[in-house]
Parts: sequence; C-alpha cells; structure tokens
Amino acid sequence: MNLENLSEVLSSEPKYRFQQVNKFVFQDFISSWQEASNLPKALREKLDFACPLDIDYELVKDQDRNSQKALIILGDNESVETVLIKQKAGKQAESEARYTACISTQVGCPLACTFCATGLAGFKRNLESFEIVNQLVFWGRHLKNHGKIDNVVFMGMGEPFLNYEEFIKAAKFINNPETLNIGARRLSVSTAGIIPGIKRLAGEKIQMNLAISLHAANDSKRRKLMPKASKYTISDLIKAVDNYINKTGRRVMFEYLMIKGVNDSEEDANELAALLHRPLYFVNLIPYNETGRYQASSPDTIKRFRGYLEDKGVPTTIRLSFGADINAACGQLHQKNR
Ligand code: SAH
Repeated sequence: MNLENLSEVLSSEPKYRFQQVNKFVFQDFISSWQEASNLPKALREKLDFACPLDIDYELVKDQDRNSQKALIILGDNESVETVLIKQKAGKQAESEARYTACISTQVGCPLACTFCATGLAGFKRNLESFEIVNQLVFWGRHLKNHGKIDNVVFMGMGEPFLNYEEFIKAAKFINNPETLNIGARRLSVSTAGIIPGIKRLAGEKIQMNLAISLHAANDSKRRKLMPKASKYTISDLIKAVDNYINKTGRRVMFEYLMIKGVNDSEEDANELAALLHRPLYFVNLIPYNETGRYQASSPDTIKRFRGYLEDKGVPTTIRLSFGADINAACGQLHQKNR
C-alpha cells in the first residue's frame, strides 16, 4: 500500500475527498478502490493506478487461535512481523473478544539484547511511519466485519526510540480521529531505556503508555543482558522516568524478564523492590520465551518473585504470554527465511 501520491491525485478534487478517502482506507478498511463506492469512477481508476492499496503478507496462525502472526513484506522486499492477540474470557461471546496488535518499528534491531531473537538477528533499517501504520491496516482488514483493534503496543521488532520521528508520527496518525482513531490510552510503547526518547515522549501532547524494559536491578547484571541499551545507567534511567512522571502524571511499567538462575532470586527481587518502590512505578514480570541462550524461570518462581515485590509495596503483574508455539511471543520475532 502506498498513499504517497494521494495529495497529488486529490489536488483537483474538493477538500472533503481527503476525509472520504481516510475513512475508506483507515476505518472501513477497503482493500481495493473499487470498494470506495461513492467516489467517481474516473477518480477510483486514478487511485488504483497511483495509490495501490494491496499489502503483501504471509499469515501464520497458532494452534489455540489466540494469536496470529503475519509477516508484512515491504516495498524493498525486507519484511517485519506483526502479531494480533485475542483476549476473551471463557464464557464471552466471540463478538466481545478484545484485540491487541503488536507492531514493529524497525527491520531487525541494533540493540542486540542477548535474550531477544530480533536483536540477535541484527539490524537492517528503520521503518517509515506509513510502514508502521500499515501493520494495523493489515489487521483492520483481517478483522473486518467481526472485530476491531482495541489496543496497540509498539513492542514488536526494533527499538521505537531509535526511530523516534517515524514512531511518533505513526502514533499520532493512529490516534487521529479522522484515521484509525485509537485512543492514546490504548497505545503503549516499550523501550529498552533510551533516555532521549523518554525525554521527548514526556513533552508530547499524546497521552500514551510508557513501558521500560529493565530486566535487571543493577548495571553489571543489566550490561550482560542488554550490552548496548545499558549505556544508559539505571540511575539515569530512574531520573528520566521520574521527570516523565512529574511532567505527565502517568504510571510507568517496568518490564522484567524472568530468566532462570540469572535474575530470578530473592536477592534480585529485593534489589529490584528497593529500586522501584516509587510513586506510579509498577512491574510487569514476563515469562521468558526461550530463544536459545537461557532457560525460563518456573511459574512457581515467578509467583514467588511477585510475592517478594508486592510485600515490599511494589505493584506487580505477570504477563500472559501468547503465541509461543508460532514464535510470535515477545522476543521471538525475527525475519524468517521466506
Ligand atoms: N526494544 C523495545 C521494544 C521491543 S518490546 C524494548 O526492548 O522494550 C519487546 C518486549 O519483549 C520487551 O519487553 C523485551 O524485553 C521482551 N522480550 C525480549 N525477548 C524476550 C524473550 N525471549 N521472552 C520474553 N520477552 C522478551
């Protein structure tokens, strides 16, 4: 899909055409201009030629059908992964299911965190904002007539704050009532702790959620897990988050992977609690999805770890992991051989 020539094609048209076109593409999720029934035929033909709507993809479904992964193939034949997660309580009707789309911001990732498949595969390039948005258009079409995207997490491949301009442009577009119209509070961005990005986000009008991938309670341990991201020290990170909270009044989530024998002891929990026992901080424990190098902590260890944190007054949740059987879970996204 490429709308780059849209302004040119619409330049001789009345102004309201833009709104019409935005509604067709980003709300009705048409996949061919022929479906844009109230546009004049000649205009549809021009659009067909100058602004193709097709999105090239490969779809992978997992067995429990709670998550689906798609590989979106980009104009230069690179590809990124995006995941759709369905949440539905047991008795809930299909029509009441909620959907979260997890989207990528880079092809690969330059940070090379040692536990993450994306980082281990290396970095290719930044996505442009429309390539970020198109991942949602893809799921919008996929869900057409039986559901819609409720939440968006910028937690796919890549580090959003190392592609800040395109990330924030995409977030604002997604939030725009005339296009995808997804409320800012339903948007979340996760960063490996890139401080300049945290500072910039604090100054934005858009009230989206911020999550920080911490994964260790001290710098020496963090350096082993996140060799590049830990160029920003934990104490500087905490200062940046405090500033962010002062400015925005919003809660901040700290993501903490549970890796067996690495960061899951009682001592680790105590160190983490001492660090994060601060107003509006909370922890999300993430069961580690195995990518080769480490082993996952047991569910019991995770529950115990949570108990230690809660006892010290740090609000803590445990992330449900979806998609592990199709390698669509956190940290397992990488370009597959096609
Ligand atoms: N670069 C950003 C955005 C990617 S988000 C960041 O690091 O936050 C991906 C989330 O999945 C992060 O919280 C990341 O730490 C986590 N993750 C990475 N590898 C994982 C793995 N093997 N198992 C579970 N979670 C993982």
